[in-house]
Amino acid sequence: MESTIPQKLEALVKLQTIDSKLNEIVKVRGALPEEVSDLEDELAGYETRIEKYNEELGDLELEISNKRNAIKDSEKLIEKYEEQQNNVRNNREFEALSKEVELQSLEIQISEKRIKEAEEKIELKKQEIKETDDVKKERQKDLDSKKKELKVLSEESEEEEKKSLKERERAAKHIEERLFKAYEKIRDNARNGLAVVSVKRGACGGCFAVVPPQRQVEIREKKKLIVCEHCGRVLADVDAPIVNDETKPKRTIRRNKKV
Ligand SMILES: [Zn+2]
Repeated sequence: MESTIPQKLEALVKLQTIDSKLNEIVKVRGALPEEVSDLEDELAGYETRIEKYNEELGDLELEISNKRNAIKDSEKLIEKYEEQQNNVRNNREFEALSKEVELQSLEIQISEKRIKEAEEKIELKKQEIKETDDVKKERQKDLDSKKKELKVLSEESEEEEKKSLKERERAAKHIEERLFKAYEKIRDNARNGLAVVSVKRGACGGCFAVVPPQRQVEIREKKKLIVCEHCGRVLADVDAPIVNDETKPKRTIRRNKKV
């Protein structure tokens, strides 16, 4: 199949358009799954934190119940000592029991102080749990909507991808094998996925190297395939009017002429 240069260029431009669209599809779909999995990790982190807080709550509650039992034990002992005081034989025995009662009263005070402290800690812990839970709920909402978005997007993009791949197959058939291979090779090496570009504002649309006006004229004529001397991309057309070098403002700073 022999085709003219304009036909070849047209086929290449078409293929490039399809490939750019395919790139965009993959790019859009590519970001979301990562965002979803980042959010899932973040939520798992909150979950772990809340579990840890709850464990700490359990420990504090256990401490309180231990201290309450200790208080009951002390109270029983005090009761016992005071009963014994009714049956002492001398003052020394009475005093000794009084000391024991005093000691147990002190123990009770200490336990009460510990209970109060633990209760305060529990309040703080509960507040932290609530705050973490609020953040978690908020992020869960984000995750749900992102997941929904991803689902819709996946379905859409898969559809679009299939369609574009078929179009690509068809478009590639209009290009001779040697040229198609060259196209693929340039695209593989191009970071932006562009193998066929136009001259824009006097520069290559792929690498932005300046294209001389004479070359721009040749590109417009479409008598042969012209590639960018700098990056090797096919220059299919010229978008802007040819910029004349003479009228282009000079970049160098002009010195004021001394009269
Ligand atoms: Zn270039």
